[in-house]
Amino acid sequence: MKILVINSGSSSIKYKLFDMPSECLISKGAIEHIGEDGSKFNNHYSGLKIILEEIKLVDAVGHRVVHGAEDFNKPALVNSRVIKVIKKCCAIAPLHNPANLSGILATAKLLPGVKQVVVFDTAFHQTIPERAFIYGLPYDYYQKLRVRKYGFHGTSHEYVAAEASRILKKPLNKLKLITCHLGNGCSITAIDQGKSVDTSMGFTPLEGLVMGTRCGDVDPALITHIMRKKNLDTKQMDSILNKESGLKGISGISNDMRLLEEKANLGSKRAKLAVDIFVYRVRKYIGAYLTVLGGLDALIFTAGIGENQPAVRESICQGLFSCLRKKPRIMVIPTNEELMIARQTYKLIKR
Ligand code: ADP
Repeated sequence: MKILVINSGSSSIKYKLFDMPSECLISKGAIEHIGEDGSKFNNHYSGLKIILEEIKLVDAVGHRVVHGAEDFNKPALVNSRVIKVIKKCCAIAPLHNPANLSGILATAKLLPGVKQVVVFDTAFHQTIPERAFIYGLPYDYYQKLRVRKYGFHGTSHEYVAAEASRILKKPLNKLKLITCHLGNGCSITAIDQGKSVDTSMGFTPLEGLVMGTRCGDVDPALITHIMRKKNLDTKQMDSILNKESGLKGISGISNDMRLLEEKANLGSKRAKLAVDIFVYRVRKYIGAYLTVLGGLDALIFTAGIGENQPAVRESICQGLFSCLRKKPRIMVIPTNEELMIARQTYKLIKR
């Protein structure tokens, strides 16, 4: 069965075509600059049309959808109810869900009758208990505005946890894991018996670790303080927190960890500070999740920084588990969110 996995962003469509169940990657590619000035692609429909002309035969399509809120704790076959919920979630994921939805609607037009499955970034984290997902805010906001921790990168955390179980030859229900997805966006998850029990990202992907351009945890009072002092509106403040902060904001150089490592080694104090803060925040979360789990079998690194920057991994792990009698395994496992989506699509379609 040929399964096409689509990740549609606001101005791009990335795809991978798998043969299932052999999991063989047949082809992959991306269309970028959709809807931008001078681009030949006005919308997702025209981008996807080109992709499908190349691919020709598709038996089913799996889509990455960022936000499924509390409505989805597992993948779902696309139908009118699913579309309605994805639309509803656009209000709490305005940067991602509208683009994901465009990809689904374009596929429905271009491949009528072909089954589509949606796999949500938030679904894996729906097992997080209330004590970890409710914020210290008026409870009303949870009931009326759906304000709570959702968590993201769920497909990646779930994939590397499954890989760890395979490599360690131990079933997931016998493992306590901490998975660190360290890319441009970064998140860390505590996984007990295969279930996410806490994760660093929150209502949006802004909470938690210091990321490429996102600030991660900050004192909420400083948002209004900075807005007043700098005379900023909400849109400007939002952009600073998401696009001008993190490694880029601290270093004043770049959001690229490779470049920061290089500059720090050449003596740049701000580059070194940015790397130190990044490492420190990851260590703090690992410490917290060690307590949440009450033990640890393996610490897993994945994504751009996690997979490719051994010096950052070493700094994070330096003396980290010295107080533990039984040392956890430290593993590097390349993530493959698209394969996870293909697997889940295949499973659902077959059923
Ligand atoms: P995302 O998918 O969130 O955009 P990635 O997982 O590609 O991000 O990670 C990007 C980060 O990983 C950057 O800080 C980059 O410097 C770092 N990095 C280090 N080595 C590599 C590599 N070989 N390929 C991609 N990113 C890398």
